[in-house]
Amino acid sequence: MPVVIFDMDGVLYRGSSVMPHARETLERLRRAGWQVFFATNNSTSTREEYVQQLRTLRLGGDVEHIVTSGYATAHYLERLDPKPRDVYVLGANGLREEIRATGISVRDASLVPGLEPPDAVVADGVDPGAMRRYLTSVSLPSPADTVVVGLDLHLTYAKRKPEPFLFEEVLRRAHERDAIVVGDSTDYDMVAAHRVGARGVLILTGLTEGPAVQHARGDAMPDRVIKSLDQLFTLPEFAGL
Ligand SMILES: [Mg+2]
Repeated sequence: MPVVIFDMDGVLYRGSSVMPHARETLERLRRAGWQVFFATNNSTSTREEYVQQLRTLRLGGDVEHIVTSGYATAHYLERLDPKPRDVYVLGANGLREEIRATGISVRDASLVPGLEPPDAVVADGVDPGAMRRYLTSVSLPSPADTVVVGLDLHLTYAKRKPEPFLFEEVLRRAHERDAIVVGDSTDYDMVAAHRVGARGVLILTGLTEGPAVQHARGDAMPDRVIKSLDQLFTLPEFAGL
């Protein structure tokens, strides 16, 4: 079954507002037999939390069709050989929970010593050496075998090389090789789509505007550009739905 992957924020909704035509578009695609996936490079929430959010916005979808960067990271770790056994996460709980859900042990962040120094130590300018003495006095646990750093990938991916692992995870789940990605960012969504061999539909709903598309080069160039979700059905990829 054909696969379409929607970037969520800025494409289907913004904050608590559903974008125009979002509900009808998803419904029409599902009725026509498309596998509709939701992707987000935000690792702060779990997939269950996104299901709740989609339900609140009446956009449908279930946990099997949501891929977050936390979830993709968790399954990336799970496929490593040897598999990590003791992970420390520097990041949000969503990421921690998704990794735990694969059965990999994740350290409890609140148990890391030294996070809450005594008041006398943090009092600014009173005793400049106090913090150093405190930190060197803390006895640290043995190091974890893997450290995962959760970041706001949207900010960093534009500066770094976009990694397509989020969309790879969708293709793996869908047992398909091809997909269409609908996103609002040339630097992230279009680049990542092309890295997995998918086609990229750019929607001009704020993040990227018409003139910016002219400057996109290489993998960042969208295959199609639409101004609103209903225009999806004017594209040859979705013709006849
Ligand atoms: Mg977006």
